Amino acid sequence: MAKQVNCDCGFMVRAQSDDELVEHVQLHAREIHQMDVPRDKALEMSKPVEATVTI
Ligand SMILES: [Zn+2]
Repeated sequence: MAKQVNCDCGFMVRAQSDDELVEHVQLHAREIHQMDVPRDKALEMSKPVEATVTI
């Protein structure tokens, strides 16, 4: 099951694995918001999405 995180700024990231998702969220938060997002928080922000759904 893929997971997706929508940032307040409009950024959206989707990944097939938690590790990948957390990595992308942390990278975005650091580069754009100068924020360090803990793994727990990144996963808390995420919601499961159907892998077949495209936006
Ligand atoms: Zn953002």
